[in-house]
Amino acid sequence: MQLLDRAETEEGFATLEDIDVVLAERSNGVTLRVPGETEFRLLEDYAPRVERIVVTFKAFRDGRGLTLATRLRERGYTGRLEAEGDVLPDQAIHLSRCGFDAVRLGETAVRAEWERALQAFSAVYQPATDGAPTVWALRARRLQSVPPSGGGDTLEAKAKALNEELRDGDAATILKRTLEAFPGRVAVLSSFGAEAAVPLHLVAQTAPDTPVLFLDTDRHFGQTLPYRDELASRFGLTDVRSLKPENAQAADPKGDLWRTDADLCCTLRKVKPLAAVKPQFDVLITGRKRFHGAGRMRLPLFEVLDGQIRLNLLANWSPAEVEAYFETHALPRHPLVQAGYRSIGCWPCTQPSADAAEDVRAGRWAGSEKVECGIHLPAAWAAETERRIAS
Ligand code: SF4
Repeated sequence: MQLLDRAETEEGFATLEDIDVVLAERSNGVTLRVPGETEFRLLEDYAPRVERIVVTFKAFRDGRGLTLATRLRERGYTGRLEAEGDVLPDQAIHLSRCGFDAVRLGETAVRAEWERALQAFSAVYQPATDGAPTVWALRARRLQSVPPSGGGDTLEAKAKALNEELRDGDAATILKRTLEAFPGRVAVLSSFGAEAAVPLHLVAQTAPDTPVLFLDTDRHFGQTLPYRDELASRFGLTDVRSLKPENAQAADPKGDLWRTDADLCCTLRKVKPLAAVKPQFDVLITGRKRFHGAGRMRLPLFEVLDGQIRLNLLANWSPAEVEAYFETHALPRHPLVQAGYRSIGCWPCTQPSADAAEDVRAGRWAGSEKVECGIHLPAAWAAETERRIAS
């Protein structure tokens, strides 16, 4: 990735406000500058017609510029992508992996720090547009000497075909097609959190008897279980299943495992209960979205994880689309949304994150490097977590 001194490259750029005028005047060499929070749909028509897009980051903690770059590359944008604004050398590798060609260094940036950062990493932890295998994937490959049951190749092929067929389909169509393709073998995974009402409402419109799997960790906020029951009742969901951890008292006698080893706590209270019912389903529908940031920025619609298809039904929805769905269908909100919780999990590991400049999931395991509980990681991750503890 190139490092540009801003002074060398400063020039008149088009913005979304005047891009129509600029493109009417000239068709070549147009550079478009957009804020990182710009929704992809606003750029979609212009991207093929501009030579360069400069994305301005207002805050280094705001991952939306990364999401935007990922989306542009995924949708085939082959022009030049540059980042500018509040970005840090620590983000250099991630910027590159999301598709940026260059960073326009600000006045206070130290070029040597950026150069060091670009050379410092030999392994990546999050998937990105460059397709480099993550540490998790490499570990999983190493640990999984036997192919997953159910025919990994067959599922991979099915997921690929469904991605191609339904890539531009609306959520209702995708859902209907999936239920037809895997009769009786589809379940929804729901935390009954801040955005959960949307996929659950969509499912209820098509097949309200679809099993809904709720991981009852015994660490949920007091508001979550009543909200679960309210949604189930209001939407007419007839098969909500609460999956509880086994032997939690023995494994976590003081009830503070979340504090001493959050990975193990998640393995005990989430990963293992889900793994226990996994053979019953070929497809799990998740509510994950690309705008959640971090490792979710490159989520496909259909993917295969350990011999099971995950359908990320709302992968390409924007925050505005989620909000609009809530409004249009007058869906009830989780009570904690009003208190500034934008993503809601277990109470010990969730805090409000009302700052719109932060990733939606910034309040989850805040202050630690943990960003996922493990239910969306290869089973080898949980196995290794347990082995690490045992050794
Ligand atoms: Fe435990 Fe926190 Fe994971 Fe919940 S989110 S299972 S409390 S570590």
